Amino acid sequence: MFAPSVFDYLSSIDCQKHIKTLKSFCCLLVQYLKYQIMNKRKVAYIWEQDLIEFSDRLPAVLGRASMVHSLITAYGLLDQVKVIRSQSASYSELKLFHSDLYLDHLKSFTHIEDDYVVTAKDEKFGLGYDCPPVSDMYNIVSTIAGGSLTAAKCLVMNMADVAMNWCGGWHHAQKYGAEGFCYINDIVIAIEKLRTTFSKILYIDLDVHHGNGVQDAYNLSKSVFTLSFHKYEPGFYPGSGNIEDIGRLNGKGYTCNIPLHALYSDDTFVNTFDSVFTMVYSCFLPDAIVIQCGADALARDPHGGAGLTLDGYCLCIKKVLNEMKPTLLLGGGGYNHANAARLWTSITALVIEVKLDDNIPEHSFWTKYGSDYTLNIRPLLTKDLNSKNYIDECITTIKGTLYRYLSHNEDENKEPITKRRKTELDNSHEAKRDSILKKQLVLKNVKEKASIIVNCDNKLTNSIDVYDFID
Ligand SMILES: [Zn+2]
Repeated sequence: MFAPSVFDYLSSIDCQKHIKTLKSFCCLLVQYLKYQIMNKRKVAYIWEQDLIEFSDRLPAVLGRASMVHSLITAYGLLDQVKVIRSQSASYSELKLFHSDLYLDHLKSFTHIEDDYVVTAKDEKFGLGYDCPPVSDMYNIVSTIAGGSLTAAKCLVMNMADVAMNWCGGWHHAQKYGAEGFCYINDIVIAIEKLRTTFSKILYIDLDVHHGNGVQDAYNLSKSVFTLSFHKYEPGFYPGSGNIEDIGRLNGKGYTCNIPLHALYSDDTFVNTFDSVFTMVYSCFLPDAIVIQCGADALARDPHGGAGLTLDGYCLCIKKVLNEMKPTLLLGGGGYNHANAARLWTSITALVIEVKLDDNIPEHSFWTKYGSDYTLNIRPLLTKDLNSKNYIDECITTIKGTLYRYLSHNEDENKEPITKRRKTELDNSHEAKRDSILKKQLVLKNVKEKASIIVNCDNKLTNSIDVYDFID
């Protein structure tokens, strides 16, 4: 009885119809693969053994850089990014922000004895208390600033869509001195590099502390918009960054602060970020974005006092990445080193769209991830002190400031923000197509201009290619 039933079946199907269906499926598959390839981000991960070793010696985060880099390596993420060798910043590059008096003073610390007593001159430059002088001070700062500068160069030369330096993000350092664990403001130096190509830069600060050093640098500027989400409580460092702090003179309206009460949770943070980022982005329309991903807003950070988990950070960063602008990702605070490593590894995976196994892979720092040896960071059980009313008030104030100072930016007729946003979304398909075409053109030029060589470095692993810039 078997043979006749197979024969019946074969004669009943419409072969032509099935071939047609198969053909259209294949076409769709090819189109999907093409779309995936075209939209795959080019990601640069900045690395150099000195960058890790010098960052490990920063007194506030001793040994942290090695832990972060080791976890990213242990998860195999370096196979899926372009590892770019970091170059030290030159004196003139450091001077893009810092005064030569401060830089020259840093040069004097070649070897520091354990019993070194801080002088009045050291204190004048902020060296002492939370920023004690250390040996090789100048080499340390030029190497760290060089990491963020190399990342910025990758974006400027269109070698990457997203570049990351987890050894950077020192947002408190000032032009004339060190402050709040920060000896060098690598962020401002990197932004200055980005400004050689991109007219408008949006700086976003997710650290639990206000990004005062970067804000102070661009307080008068219309070209760099600084946006900081932070804990703002009496006595909490640095004490600046209230909602009325909106920039000065020509830069008025181009600074935005979201002062949050203690113990802010993922819900508060993500909802606030969602509203504020959308408004700021649509009003300012940046050409490139820099995110300081300080990890000290994670729950139970010893210097924090917020209650975020990995999800809180990643949802916000995903929203920024969806805008498909050249993006620089930097580290920052984060004094529970294992949690900082968990966060920056998770963000690296998010950028390259890889799902991580929750269990920490075995590697040299594995024992630091006890007691559960997973990526998970539990939320706090204590109450978030930010009420819905308080957050709504903040958002209303910010909206008012943006209307007042930036509404002319996009549309001289001063349409409501929501309407402008809709128009932008309506045009997004065409804009995306144009941007892909533009990118292809730029890439061709860059291939001729920016030559890079592949050099396998044994210090990293034998299987990872490290790319060097050729100046
Ligand atoms: Zn911080």
